[in-house]
Amino acid sequence: MADDTEELTAVTDSAVEVAVFAPLRQNFSYRCPVPAPALGVRVRVPFGRGQRIGIVVGFGPTPEGTSLKEIDAVIDPEPLLSPALQSLLHFGSAYYQHPLGEVWATALPSLLCRGRPLPGADDPLYLCNAAAIHSSARLGPRQRALLQLLQESGPLRRQDLPATLRPALPGLLARDILRAEAAPPPLLAVQNSPHALHAEQREAVAALRAAHGFSVFLLDGVTGSGKTEVYLEAARPHLEAGRQVLFLVPEIGLTPQLLGRCRSRFGAAVVAAYHSGQSEAQRLRVWHGARSGQLRVIVGTRSALFLPLARPGLIVVDEEHDPSFKQQSGWLYSARDLAIRRAQLESIPIVLGSATPSLESLQNAYSGKYRHLRLRQRATAMSLPPMTILPMRRRLLQAGLSIELLKACGQTLEAGHQVLLFLNRRGYAPALLCHDCGTVLFCPRCSAPLTWHRRPQRLRCHHCGHEATHPGHCPQCASVDLRAVGAGTEQLEDYLQQRFPEVPVLRIDRDCVTHAGQLESLLARVHSAGPAILVGTQMLAKGHHFPRVTLVGIVHVDQSLFSADFRATERLAQTVLQVAGRAGRGNEPGRVLLQSHVPEHPLLALLQAGDYGAIAHHLLEERRSAQLPPFRALALLRAEAHRPERVQAFLETVAGQAPAELEISGPFPSLLERRAGFHRAELWLEAADRTQLQRALKHWLREVGKQPEGRRVRWVVDVDPLNF
Ligand code: ADP
Ligand code: ZN
Ligand code: ZN
Repeated sequence: MADDTEELTAVTDSAVEVAVFAPLRQNFSYRCPVPAPALGVRVRVPFGRGQRIGIVVGFGPTPEGTSLKEIDAVIDPEPLLSPALQSLLHFGSAYYQHPLGEVWATALPSLLCRGRPLPGADDPLYLCNAAAIHSSARLGPRQRALLQLLQESGPLRRQDLPATLRPALPGLLARDILRAEAAPPPLLAVQNSPHALHAEQREAVAALRAAHGFSVFLLDGVTGSGKTEVYLEAARPHLEAGRQVLFLVPEIGLTPQLLGRCRSRFGAAVVAAYHSGQSEAQRLRVWHGARSGQLRVIVGTRSALFLPLARPGLIVVDEEHDPSFKQQSGWLYSARDLAIRRAQLESIPIVLGSATPSLESLQNAYSGKYRHLRLRQRATAMSLPPMTILPMRRRLLQAGLSIELLKACGQTLEAGHQVLLFLNRRGYAPALLCHDCGTVLFCPRCSAPLTWHRRPQRLRCHHCGHEATHPGHCPQCASVDLRAVGAGTEQLEDYLQQRFPEVPVLRIDRDCVTHAGQLESLLARVHSAGPAILVGTQMLAKGHHFPRVTLVGIVHVDQSLFSADFRATERLAQTVLQVAGRAGRGNEPGRVLLQSHVPEHPLLALLQAGDYGAIAHHLLEERRSAQLPPFRALALLRAEAHRPERVQAFLETVAGQAPAELEISGPFPSLLERRAGFHRAELWLEAADRTQLQRALKHWLREVGKQPEGRRVRWVVDVDPLNF
């Protein structure tokens, strides 16, 4: 029997498998040209009525009787990425159950996805040929301007020329007025650490430097303990040996700080940033510099993980606990987790650093999978700031602030220091309430109230972006007594400015900071200002260094104590300790005041003690007894549609077809049950470990994809979900 089947599919020709840059689950086969292209090169292929660009991802036999189309063009003379990086993408596609073409499209700079040829040999320098300059009489205005620029500034690369003058290059080169010369590779310029490392730092550096091949380190060091110094000192021997170091940070806003430290330590010419705030051309240039090996240190956000590195030496993931490392749309990958996989494929060490490590990473450290390096003390003479819980029940509040907190603000400002108030709610008020009938104004498209913003005056939905003007009266009872309930950062800002008119109040949240440059200039203002109040959300909490802040006020975090999201308490602990860690980082001791309506909550007592290890231990025990990650592997199948019964029918049908290794529960309505007009629900898919989960999902999803009900809903699988 087996022999017969084989004969039926006799191989007549061989085929190339291409993953096209599109959200399509399968790859496509084309006739293999001669010579065969290498794995990992781009090709242009006929697709439908047009053409698409894709990547050669495999070879296979062509069954008899099938006629395959030819590839239109092979774009690259060599693979774009090393075999290790190609394997990483294949792994990432399989693990997160996401189409390979889209995975590649996420990993490459978009100019390459659109077919831009690989940048050639490194950009040469252009300079004037002294002998030929006399012929400049017959030049056009642009040519003359370019010539003048090069005469004044000396040799320049194409990228350093104003875009308007670049078209003048070929003409001047052709007439021998200019010539091109190979640029020398930029130089590493290593400086010594400005500090004498303390004992725990020295131990951590020694352990990292002794690592050969793949190993994972968790650098678990309290805020301000000098983790960055450890990274830099651990990176140094790799750079001196000609290798490259990749730093991943969770947000664009954190790149300038680390970039600056890397540049002053290793030389500006060999250090570059890579993030979505850059232009396409900039990104391609960094990509190329990393691939050619000229750039030696890259500081980037998520997608920097996929930069080709000519000689990788070390990967650093800073603030590894940060949920921003997980991509929220498209390919739902975790950059931290894939970074570990990459280190394994490249056989290099990786260090994950945080003052508040994720429970996943801590569990791996406890079980011996990761090496646990600890920094228990702050690097400077200042100790960690003490935290006081302010009970709020029955207290008089102004804009959500108690008298004690306001008094402390006044004292701090009088002493010439800065205050940081943390409130994770943008806008003026989180809801408008009718004082006559109790109606709350909801988003018409989501199951959530609209947030009231005053600058500009608008009701805005923070889930779908819906906006409306203030209705003036209640839609239910026509009363004009609509009141703002609760306080957001705008309200805090207004109130504090009125209360402390003599000091600047700086608000830092996503409404006033929309790109990286704005955050940088706001932070610069904070650094240069005398007494000041900073009001901000999560954005302020992350990794920033504010030497003059001595009082941190945590305005309102109670909702997280009672959230249905099983990760809420872990997040709360991380956020509170990170925000608290902004206090007292300079020469003055700091303190932290946390307002709560439930001051007796056991988690708050643990937070007050400031011992993240104890909190994590407690939370891990809860997870273990509830059989939640990291003790089980979890994925969600999320579905949404305008009609709730379609979501229900789809999820129920596919749940019935699940293999035995998958433990399925649900469908459950999502925490936000309706968003942008879509009803949302999810199935919880669990298995004993991640390998089993991946295997079971793969087979099952093929069936799920064939379900006719699946065409009437939008569905997606989220493996290792972080956000609910
Ligand atoms: P982390 O990354 O753990 O928050 P940093 O590396 O940014 O800590 O260090 C916090 C502050 O302490 C920085 O201002 C840094 O220059 C300083 N610092 C780091 N190591 C030392 C040391 N060994 N001695 C004195 N100061 C140090
Ligand atoms: Zn009303
Ligand atoms: Zn909405």
